[in-house]
Amino acid sequence: MKLLRFARGFVNFVPTKEMRKDTAKHQGLRNQLVNLLREKGISNEDVLQAVGKVPRHLYVDSSFEQFAYRDQAFPIRANQTISQPYTVAFQTELLEVTEGSKVLEIGTGSGYQAAVLCEMGVKVYSIERQKELFDHTRELLQQLGYRPTLKFGDGYKGMPTYAPFDAIVVTAAAPEIPNALLAQLKVGGKLVIPVGDVSDVQRMYCITRKGEKQFSRATHGDFRFVPMLGNKE
Ligand code: SAH
Repeated sequence: MKLLRFARGFVNFVPTKEMRKDTAKHQGLRNQLVNLLREKGISNEDVLQAVGKVPRHLYVDSSFEQFAYRDQAFPIRANQTISQPYTVAFQTELLEVTEGSKVLEIGTGSGYQAAVLCEMGVKVYSIERQKELFDHTRELLQQLGYRPTLKFGDGYKGMPTYAPFDAIVVTAAAPEIPNALLAQLKVGGKLVIPVGDVSDVQRMYCITRKGEKQFSRATHGDFRFVPMLGNKE
């Protein structure tokens, strides 16, 4: 039986998570990626250091592993994507968070963005609405030693139990800015969210809560994300 399993595995060899390693070669590729992000304008050293630490190749499908350190987005399970490293770094930089900050992420996906925030010493809360992804990523993050608070549910509602947050990052395309997320920001906190046509291009918004009822907004260029879906879709 053992032999049979081995033979089958040999013909169609797909390394399991347990077998996938982080090597000096991966670290070298990560260092190159960090340099590229710096050249592209990312300047927050905490963000760059975190990108330099997270083994991104373990967050992509094993068939994409060799490309994991390219500055590209890739498909992950359940028809979703792992964001491009530049986009992850750019959104993280806009959050302006430091060690100990409380951050809510909408769209856990592969868990890569959550891991980058964990490496920065941030207290991470993250919501995912696809059960398959949620289950897979919860296990992966645990195996890799990251301990964010994960929730299976609808990100449009946020996580009122743990609110308010120092920052909220939405990693899926929203047709509009959800009021529930604005309400869960601390005064002084930031919501970073791609807003626009969810089937095309979105604009990156950074909303700052200036007071109980006062918000200011700035925009930061165009991006493409998978749609942030509501309950009924
Ligand atoms: N941050 C992720 C990016 C994943 S892509 C990463 O680092 O890999 C966006 C994710 O948002 C998908 O997994 C999708 O299932 C999820 N998503 C879409 N709508 C959502 C919603 N309403 N609530 C929570 N997650 C949602």
